[in-house]
Amino acid sequence: MYGLMMDTPLLISSLIEHASTVFGGTEIVTRTVEGPIHRYTWTDAHLRSKQLAQALQTLDIHDGDAVATVAWNTHRHLELYYGVSGMGAVIHTVNPRLHPSQLVYVLNHAKDRALFIDLTFVPLLEAVQDHLQTVKHFVVMTDAAHMPKTTLPGALCYEDLLAAEDGAYEWPTFDENTAAGICYTSGTTGNPKGVVYSHRSSVLHAYGASLPSALPLSPGDAMLPVVPMFHVNAWGIPYGAAMCGYRLVLPGPRLDGAGLTELMAAEGVTVCCGVPTVHLGLLDHWRESGTGVPSLRMATVGGAAPTRSLIEAFHARGIAFLHGWGMTETSPIGTTCTLSALDEGLTDEQKVDVLMRQGRPLCGVRLRIVDAFGEPLPNDGEAMGELQIQGPWICSAYLGDEPGSALDDEGWFPTGDMAVIHPDGILQITDRKKDLIKSGGEWISSLDLEDVVTRHPEVSVAAVIAVPHEKWGERPLLVVQPAQGTSLSRESVLEFLEGQVAKWWLPDEVVLVDAIPLGATGKVQKSKLRETYGRA
Ligand code: ADP
Repeated sequence: MYGLMMDTPLLISSLIEHASTVFGGTEIVTRTVEGPIHRYTWTDAHLRSKQLAQALQTLDIHDGDAVATVAWNTHRHLELYYGVSGMGAVIHTVNPRLHPSQLVYVLNHAKDRALFIDLTFVPLLEAVQDHLQTVKHFVVMTDAAHMPKTTLPGALCYEDLLAAEDGAYEWPTFDENTAAGICYTSGTTGNPKGVVYSHRSSVLHAYGASLPSALPLSPGDAMLPVVPMFHVNAWGIPYGAAMCGYRLVLPGPRLDGAGLTELMAAEGVTVCCGVPTVHLGLLDHWRESGTGVPSLRMATVGGAAPTRSLIEAFHARGIAFLHGWGMTETSPIGTTCTLSALDEGLTDEQKVDVLMRQGRPLCGVRLRIVDAFGEPLPNDGEAMGELQIQGPWICSAYLGDEPGSALDDEGWFPTGDMAVIHPDGILQITDRKKDLIKSGGEWISSLDLEDVVTRHPEVSVAAVIAVPHEKWGERPLLVVQPAQGTSLSRESVLEFLEGQVAKWWLPDEVVLVDAIPLGATGKVQKSKLRETYGRA
C-alpha cells in the first residue's frame, strides 16, 4: 500500500520561490568584485535568477548541460546557483585555486558548455582557454562599464545578458533525482573526482542542515559565509538561507581579517562560517587592531579540526562556537557538535572537550567505524577505525562512474577519515587515514599533537607529519608558524610539549616557518609539507 500524499518533487527552484514569497523583503548584501556594496532582496534575486534562466536558453543551454562558475561569494553567483539548477541545467562550481592543469581537467571532464567568470579570474581562464574542449560561451560576471579587454573568444557581459530578458519565466518541474550541481574534490592525490548533487539531495541536505541541532539560524540572523560558494556549495548556506529567511552577507573577494571585520560589523552579522585558518585570521586582526564584531553571536567552523585555543578564544569574547564535519562527498555536512542538556553540569573546560569533537550525525545520516578488514567496531569511545557513512545526501559514485561504485559491498561510503564514536553517538575524528603516524607499532594522532602545540601562546598554526624512521617505522615532525611579532624557539615548543604528551609522541624535529602552506580550500596542505620535509 502506498501513502496518499502529494508527490511534490524536491526542487531547488522551490527554495527561492519560497524565499521570494515569504521573505521577499529580506536583504542579500554583497561586497562586489568591482568594490562597492550591493544590496537587494530575495524578490530581486528571484526575478534575476529567472532572467538568467531565460538568458541560458538563448545561449542554447538546456536540461542536463553543465554550466561552470569560477567566482567568489556574490549575489551574481547566488543567481547562478538558482538560475542554472532551476532551469534543469547543472551548475559546476570550480575552485579557482586548483592547479591550472587540474582546472583544465575538471572543465573538460564535466563537459562544461558555458563558463561564468568573475573579473578576478579572467586572466586565469585566458591562460588555459586553448585547452578547453567543450566551452561554447564565456560570460564575465560584471556590467558593461567594467567589462575588461579579454582574449576570451566572444566574451559576453553578465549584466547585458540579464538586461535582455524580462524574467517572465516559470520554473520547470522535473524528477527530483535530476543532477543539480557538480563539485570536484580537491585532488590531493591524482586528478579531482566529480561529486554530482541532485535536487533531492541538495534540498534534503538544506533541511537537515537547518535543524536547530545543526546550524541554528532564524530569520533574525545575518550570516556571512566565508566558506566559498566555489567549493561544497558553501555548506549549503545559499539554499538554507532561502529556506530559513536569514540575511545573507556575501564577502566577495576580500577575505582578510580586516576586510571581513569591517563588513561584519557594518552589516550586524550574527553568524559566520569558514575553515579554522579563516577564524585564526579574524582573531589575529581583532587582537592587533583592538576591534571585534559586537553583533557576532556564533562562529561556525568546519573542514578541518579546530584547536582548543581557537574555541577558547571565541568563548573569551562571548561568542558561541559550533563545529561540524563533512566532505565534498557528503554535500558537505555530516555531523555538527552542540552541547546538549546532559552537558549542563560540565565545567567550562569539559564543555570545550565536547565541542572539539565532530559531533552527532544530522538526522538522516548514519555513521559507523570499521577495522582494516571492514568489520564494524563498537561505539565505545576507544576503538578507532575508518569512518563510513550513509544517507540521502551522501555520494554513491563519482561523475562518469557506475551508480554505487564508490560504496562498499554493504552500501557504505568510506570516508578515509579515522575516528572513534562515543557511546552517545558523538563522532570524534582522530586523523585522516594518510596523516596518522605509526611509531613503533603504536598510533600518534597528528590532530591531537597539533592541538596541544597550538595552546602555546606564541604558536599561530601547527602541522605534524610522519617522516620515515629506520627503527620506529615513522616519527612525527612538527612544522610551526609562530604568531606575528613573537620570537618563538624550537626549544620552547619542545619544553611546552613535555609533560603534556607521552614522551614517545614528542616530535623528533621542529621546523619554524613564516607561513604554513594552505591548499585550495584554506586547509593546511600536508602533502606540500611531506614533499619538503618528509624525507627519510
Ligand atoms: P578537500 O579537503 O580534499 O577539499 P573536503 O573539503 O571534502 O576535501 O574535505 C573533507 C575532509 O576534511 C574530511 O574527510 C576530513 O578529513 C576533513 N575535515 C572536515 N571537517 C573536519 C572537522 N571538523 N574535523 C576534522 N577534519 C575535518
